[in-house]
Amino acid sequence: MNFMGSRSTRRNYGKMRSAVTAVARERIELLLSQAIEILPRDTDLAKRYVGLAQRISTRTKVRIPKDMKHYLCKNCGQPLIPGKNARIRLRSGNSRIIISCLSCGSFRRYPYRKLG
Ligand SMILES: [Zn+2]
Repeated sequence: MNFMGSRSTRRNYGKMRSAVTAVARERIELLLSQAIEILPRDTDLAKRYVGLAQRISTRTKVRIPKDMKHYLCKNCGQPLIPGKNARIRLRSGNSRIIISCLSCGSFRRYPYRKLG
């Protein structure tokens, strides 16, 4: 009689991988939302949270969601909050959005899709 089923020793690596991805994604989103929350009080801590989120992203190959990534300054590493430390301009002529960081003055352009 075999009470120790072989099932318990079988490992599903695919499942483990997706668990890592899910945890990483959750942590990235949490870190970024904490960065945004702490920014008005502590800029350096906000930058550290962003840095951590980026490190998790590189290590686990989990991408930071596009709409979040656009609101991180590539130059100074701050989370960008429109109306606080960022300025958003729309160029409807060529469907571009320009996000400027008011802390370091760098800006980035992204194409955007027109609604409708
Ligand atoms: Zn900046």
